[in-house]
Amino acid sequence: MSETDRRPIPLSRIEIDAEIRERISTAVDSGQYILGPECRAFEEELAAYFGVEHCLLVANATSGLMLALLALDVGPGDEVLVPSHTAFPTVEPIFHVGATPVFIDTDETHTVAPDALERAITPRSRVILPVHLYGQACDMDALLALSKSHGLPILEDCAQAPGARDGERKVGAIGDASVLSFYASKNLPVLGDGGAFLTNQSKLAEKVRMLRNHGRRDKHTHEIVGWNLRFSDLQAAVGRVFLSRLDARNEARRRIAARYAELLASAPVTLPHEREGSHHVRHLYVIETSQRDALAKHLADRGIQTGVHYPIPNHLQPGTQTRLQAPAQRLPHTEESADRILSLPMFPALADEDVERVATAVLDFLGNRS
Ligand SMILES: *Cc1c(COP(=O)(O)O)cnc(C)c1O
Repeated sequence: MSETDRRPIPLSRIEIDAEIRERISTAVDSGQYILGPECRAFEEELAAYFGVEHCLLVANATSGLMLALLALDVGPGDEVLVPSHTAFPTVEPIFHVGATPVFIDTDETHTVAPDALERAITPRSRVILPVHLYGQACDMDALLALSKSHGLPILEDCAQAPGARDGERKVGAIGDASVLSFYASKNLPVLGDGGAFLTNQSKLAEKVRMLRNHGRRDKHTHEIVGWNLRFSDLQAAVGRVFLSRLDARNEARRRIAARYAELLASAPVTLPHEREGSHHVRHLYVIETSQRDALAKHLADRGIQTGVHYPIPNHLQPGTQTRLQAPAQRLPHTEESADRILSLPMFPALADEDVERVATAVLDFLGNRS
């Protein structure tokens, strides 16, 4: 093995260039740092990109989901239908508003299985909270049909999927409201925490607008008790640059995914699915193998960083168990895949030679073992 063969390949990396530094510097000079002109411009550009009426920037997606649930009047006694296989931050806000998560199993795309969701609906169900996990849009036609027949609003968790589509429709503009995350490894990042709430419904938008900013209607009138979950102009300046590059960066991810699929075609692993008719934006490239931990170690020994998203399903998390009265139900697909999933390096600037090095290392390991 040559010297260069062990150069570290990270799981994810954000590209910072002169344009980004310059836009931050301009925002610094503007003298307005919270919900100022950069934030207003970013909100308008996001609303235009997603084709929604209202966009409200918030401190992060976790609190955006909490504000969305509050705007939807979800509270104690209410159940929220949510996949277990997602980031814990999808679930925390349900507890924060006093409601109960009802965990739904996923299908082979690792998004919520509509038939399992239908079986979990009770008279206490209040909201459907699908997660477009890994950049894969959920089966929104099926979820919209359930939403309609049971009168349940849909709150989309789009943290991992800005730019993804289900058919012709962009995620984030399909349900009643949606939330984005700008965490630095996400497809639409800033250099810190950040998020946004999207909706076409003025009532929901007005509620979130007040809740994120101390319950204010205007400067001095606090109509309700809210929070400080506002967004920064320096970060909005960065977000605007990455929004202008979102489609190009998503295309780069898709090219890398196609290259992985080509190189790993013969490997005895399960490659990620792309649901027919959907446009996957490859936030993560997640393969499945029964030898996950040994493969991760083999790759780490060669300088290749991997991740597991997520090793402990949320219905089995200690934090969840302390809040729920009932013992966790079984979610067979979720539990089985938690032990098999492995996220390979995936980011727009990942060089083709590095994709090849990762694939070669995977093939070496599996070729020698299975
Ligand atoms: C990252 C993430 C969140 C939380 O986003 P933050 O902006 O870090 O609060 C929520 N849901 C999913 C699916 C995520 O990947």
